[in-house]
Amino acid sequence: MTHVITALCLRDGACVDVCPVECIVGGKPENEWPWFFIDPNTCIDCGACVPECPYEAIFPLDEIPSSYELKPGQEVQPFRGERWTAAGGEVIDLTMAQGVDGYTAAQANADFYANGPGYQARNM
Ligand code: SF4
Ligand code: SF4
Repeated sequence: MTHVITALCLRDGACVDVCPVECIVGGKPENEWPWFFIDPNTCIDCGACVPECPYEAIFPLDEIPSSYELKPGQEVQPFRGERWTAAGGEVIDLTMAQGVDGYTAAQANADFYANGPGYQARNM
């Protein structure tokens, strides 16, 4: 199992330093990898990152809400597309990456390490 960063990530980086296995990396380049991402092969599911996220963007894999009601002013960063601000009451499926049909947030996190820059992004 792993924890997953979702489209509520606004890239403030607060989660990075608390991870005991250093498996959270900021996505670069930002237009291709707009969130921070968790390496599913290294995450030990300790949960330490969850309370650190001021935007409540991190969930255990099997607890990502598929019907998440946004609060007024809450911002969403789709995996592809412009960031937008909720009026409040909109319901989105956070299991999906947003902006790419059929692509899940879990896949986006895994792909960043399998097919993207992964840990190399720390040096970019
Ligand atoms: S759950 Fe723990 S191991 Fe996994 S990314 Fe969060 S802090 Fe790191
Ligand atoms: S997951 Fe949360 S704490 Fe981590 S970078 Fe994104 S917004 Fe910040």
